[in-house]
Amino acid sequence: MNTKKQSGHKSSLDAQKHDRNSHGSRTAVADDKLCSQTENGENKLESQTKHGQNGLGPQTKAIHGGEPNRYGVNGPIVTEIIRSSTFTFSNTEEMKEWAEGKNKAYIYTRYGNPTLSVAEKKIAALEGAEAAVVAASGMAAISSSLLAVLKTGDELISTAQLYGGTYRLMRDVFPNLGITVHHVGPDLGGIEKLVTPRTKALYVETPTNPTLRLVDIEKAVAFAKKHKLVSLIDNTFATPVLQNPIALGYDIVLHSATKALAGHSDILAGVSVGSQEWMDKVRHMIISLGGSMDPGAAYLLIRGVKTLGVRVQRQCENAMAVATFLEKHPKVERVHYPGLKSHPDHELAKKQMRGFSSMLAFDMKGGLPAARRFCDRVRLFLMAASLGGVESLVILPIYSSHYNMSDEELKRAGVSPGTVRVSMGLEDKEDLIEDLKQALD
Ligand code: PLP
Repeated sequence: MNTKKQSGHKSSLDAQKHDRNSHGSRTAVADDKLCSQTENGENKLESQTKHGQNGLGPQTKAIHGGEPNRYGVNGPIVTEIIRSSTFTFSNTEEMKEWAEGKNKAYIYTRYGNPTLSVAEKKIAALEGAEAAVVAASGMAAISSSLLAVLKTGDELISTAQLYGGTYRLMRDVFPNLGITVHHVGPDLGGIEKLVTPRTKALYVETPTNPTLRLVDIEKAVAFAKKHKLVSLIDNTFATPVLQNPIALGYDIVLHSATKALAGHSDILAGVSVGSQEWMDKVRHMIISLGGSMDPGAAYLLIRGVKTLGVRVQRQCENAMAVATFLEKHPKVERVHYPGLKSHPDHELAKKQMRGFSSMLAFDMKGGLPAARRFCDRVRLFLMAASLGGVESLVILPIYSSHYNMSDEELKRAGVSPGTVRVSMGLEDKEDLIEDLKQALD
């Protein structure tokens, strides 16, 4: 970690002494262990289930990671929702100790909550990180993380192909805070020229929303390290099932957990993942700006993460089948799916991802009118924004994630008016392809 880059945040570090929250005494969640220890101090799961050289496998971590002790009589298997906004102290001495930073009691859910802690530990385990902070939405996690890293006068280099909300945050909000953003293409061409003495961080999204371009994640982090930049990556489209940027040296990994992590289109959620030191700063921002997660959402997130692996695997299979079908269709101009040989980043995808993503996009011959006709005719595919759920969805990016953008901005984002974005669900691929056929005819 780049300590120099953090030195400008002394005052917020001081403030963090008052933002303690993450590990309360009410649940037996172990700090650095996947599961809690048994009474004799043995971590039952870890001692029983080894997965090659790397400890437990990802699906085991998704199911058991972060959970409190569930051994013994009468233990619930499912995480409890601690639906309390505030927590008691037993005496004023405890209260004083909390205020002085001497204990980490839960005091108020905006600061932390036992159900949120389970979600955080589970996702941290899955991403192979020291810690995580959950947030009310992906944008809450992204904005709070960026503001934990950047201050007035700093410069940020970001890929231009981004989720539209992140792009608009950088375009419409950051200039008012005195933060300058320089954009670079997914191939990172010319990035060296964008570095100035004020450059503080590198932000990448890969695969990108909506056209699935890939950034070489090793090259990007090597560049960040060379210039002592804090590295942030939006891992929403890949999910920890397909790539783990922490292992490659990224400082902060971000997710719209609304999407595949929760997986059922029923909550808004975000998460930031990284070292304990970075997560303390991110938590301070979440507490200060108020983007904390609701415990009910945390419960659904925990439940969703348990099946992430099987869902993503099935969605990737469906995406490959649909992309292959669309590529051969005479009414389709171009399919954007890294699993296809025709995709410009196919080789890179094979190198850095364990699957080709559950998302794809395609451009219709005939542009916007043809794309609208297609979207108006699908039956099984639902016409809706968002992604990563069990239902397959279609959407026009120019009317959703990429609204309010100039032609120039759309071109740089790789979005054309005839681009349709597809989020693959878990339905039978034969049914999905039949639906596409009738909608395209
Ligand atoms: N990052 C990506 C890649 C997204 O697709 C989205 C939302 O679509 C976000 C971040 C923002 O997440 P949320 O809508 O949960 O705030």
